[in-house]
Amino acid sequence: MRAIHLGHLGVQRSLSRARENVYWYGMNKDITDHVEKCQTCQCHQKDKPEEPILIHKIPHRPWQIVASDICQVERVNYLVIADSYSGYFDFSVLPNITTASVIKCLKSWFAVHGVPETLMCDEGTQLISREIKKFAEDWNFSIHTSSPHHKRSNGLAERYVQEAKLLLRNCVADKSDIQLALLNQRNTPRGNLGSPVQRLMGRRTKSTLFVEEKLLKPQLIKNVPSKLRERRNLEKQYADRGTKTTATSFHWSASALASRGADPPQS
Ligand SMILES: [Zn+2]
Repeated sequence: MRAIHLGHLGVQRSLSRARENVYWYGMNKDITDHVEKCQTCQCHQKDKPEEPILIHKIPHRPWQIVASDICQVERVNYLVIADSYSGYFDFSVLPNITTASVIKCLKSWFAVHGVPETLMCDEGTQLISREIKKFAEDWNFSIHTSSPHHKRSNGLAERYVQEAKLLLRNCVADKSDIQLALLNQRNTPRGNLGSPVQRLMGRRTKSTLFVEEKLLKPQLIKNVPSKLRERRNLEKQYADRGTKTTATSFHWSASALASRGADPPQS
């Protein structure tokens, strides 16, 4: 149960994670009870990212549009990066908030996943400096800024930055292994969109949970852009009914997504 709930995934996500790997009689109820009674989850309930955030531009391939932000948890600064195609995110401790440290971190991620087409960040952060602009020129990517007062305009990637912050806070709060929590989060399926790591790398990655050998073989998640577009349109429909998710609109959205085989965006 601990392995399934690593990173404090919500009920729906914990169930999705479990269903791919294990089964026991009464599993759904056991997992639901476990998550609902989890103290860390209850403490950080209010920190859940606001819903919904609208995606403006749908990426057509992994690591094309990424968003980055700096956040502080327990007086430690982190640089967060999130890919809007896959929902894959990562973070790194910043020894100090200097442009040099930020660039060093970005370079290490770009060396692994490639240089993005667009890096999105908020105006007025250390992410926007002359050195960063020079780095963008040298490495051939563009920087898209949005006003901190209109964070939502950053869209999907901004949401994942918020998710990253929540995961960090949860792991710091219960002193659990952040990397193991990340591994679990990245392998949690999002309905017909597969898991973040499947969308980014075309395969599941092995974690501490039992997994069948055949599930670890490479397998591409097809039609991601159209599925993302469909999800965006659904979210837009209920965003138009009010900017903040109410219980009613959430249920409407959850059932609408479920009927298409997808998890609600923040389950
Ligand atoms: Zn929890």
